Amino acid sequence: MLRLVVGVLLGHAHLNQHLSIMRVVDNPHCNHCQGSYETAAHFIGECNGYASLRGEIWEKPHLHTDHFQHVTIRDLVSFIGNYADSRRSQSLALASTSGDGIWAHLAA
Ligand SMILES: [Zn+2]
Repeated sequence: MLRLVVGVLLGHAHLNQHLSIMRVVDNPHCNHCQGSYETAAHFIGECNGYASLRGEIWEKPHLHTDHFQHVTIRDLVSFIGNYADSRRSQSLALASTSGDGIWAHLAA
């Protein structure tokens, strides 16, 4: 989990924008929001696909980058951990590991 959190913070996590630079995937866009690159800022603060989880943790569906300075490591770990657990279960159920950005790699 620590590796995943640090990767997200550094922008070197298995997010589609980074994976496309590394030529692991062809599409740098978010799987939920075509037109938006799947960056750390998009994942943590903007993506509508994670709005309900964000609401549970921060009581806001979206976080502007100005609010990132108020995000605690504990809340960030909770956000990433909860969603990773959810996606891992879905990925295992679907036995799908391709084209799913950061979360596909959690199923392995
Ligand atoms: Zn998105």
